[in-house]
Amino acid sequence: MNRADFPILNELVYGKPLVYLDNAATTQKPQVVIDALNDYYLHINSNIHRGVHCLSQQATNEFERAREAVRQYINAASTQEVIFTRGATESINLVAASFGRTYLQPDDEVIVSEMEHHSNIVPWQLACEERGAKLKVLPFNEQGELIISKLETLITERTKIVAVAHVSNSLGTINPIEKIISIAHQHNVPVLIDGAQAVAHCPVNVQALDCDFYCFSGHKMYAPMGIGVMYGKTQWLNEMQPYQGGGEMIKDVTFEKTTYNELPFKFEAGTPSVGDVIGLRTAIEYIQNVGLEKIATYEQELLTYTAEKLSKIDGMRFIGEAAQKTGVISFLVSDIHPYDMGVLLDHQGIAVRTGHHCTQPIMTHFGIPGTVRASFALYNTFEEADKLVEAVIKAKNMLM
Ligand code: PLP
Repeated sequence: MNRADFPILNELVYGKPLVYLDNAATTQKPQVVIDALNDYYLHINSNIHRGVHCLSQQATNEFERAREAVRQYINAASTQEVIFTRGATESINLVAASFGRTYLQPDDEVIVSEMEHHSNIVPWQLACEERGAKLKVLPFNEQGELIISKLETLITERTKIVAVAHVSNSLGTINPIEKIISIAHQHNVPVLIDGAQAVAHCPVNVQALDCDFYCFSGHKMYAPMGIGVMYGKTQWLNEMQPYQGGGEMIKDVTFEKTTYNELPFKFEAGTPSVGDVIGLRTAIEYIQNVGLEKIATYEQELLTYTAEKLSKIDGMRFIGEAAQKTGVISFLVSDIHPYDMGVLLDHQGIAVRTGHHCTQPIMTHFGIPGTVRASFALYNTFEEADKLVEAVIKAKNMLM
């Protein structure tokens, strides 16, 4: 699907056509996104806001148009709820630090799930440590599905926030976040959703979900690296203390007292990555032109096809067999170390990721060192899936 839009897919590795199946780590960029970056630096590069000159005004307009594109993409109620960051990691750190400083008291509790990326664990550990609060963990079952019934028992009157992934990067599980949000809200507990692995693969409507925060990275949705989004409901953002101090986030500064800027600028200290924000807007327009529903359906077909073929390989073990999944296949073959498999696949031109995928608690749960992970994007083909299967068989024969 739309493969020709991605110039890098014509690269050869070791003289073989690149089969890029590492999309959960980062996606490739379509020509329109590369052009948007180029155009920005060729024609309008300038610092934004408060510039009286023409380029600065143009850059500001493009930047704020991008905020509106993001608002529309996730259906936020207002652009003041869309904060630009460097990525999902920074978005979650922002919430953990600012929310923590504002609301967490000693002995309060934060709930995360057992399948979180380290980016949705460590920032909460830091906040808990700083505030004397406790981290609690919602477990998952052997299929890699969260045990939602345990959430009710985990939530107490000391619970201040629940933070869970929309989609697991290691297991591919699509979590029932509507249910999680609804349970948490019945106890007046806000919910942060880590949407890093969801935004390019299924429609997201933050108002319908009623989540309190939703965080994601641009580079996993065909946009440049170094740009991300933190969506937060106005009520929280108004109350929360700023994350970083500096230019742009202030209204008035004296040595005695500083007052903060209005939203969203209160959370955007310093010069932002303007070109990357414009690249993100272009990527969103690109996804919308292809159609997110169409992408989701196509990736599901690829997932079913590939999993079915891989399952025929003797010794194949899937890690993560949830009923609802995105195009992420984590696997092990017999007792072959994932790293060895990864290296042999690479020599056949196939880019996969191996290791713990920044989710060590998942690996601990299954008692494994890591997995081999193939993850799809809209440009992958059934032919590439066949190549993966052939390459796994070949690698297995070499290693056993
Ligand atoms: N959350 C999940 C589920 C992820 O998969 C990732 C990256 O792999 C992140 C957060 C962190 O994203 P980034 O490194 O772009 O900040």
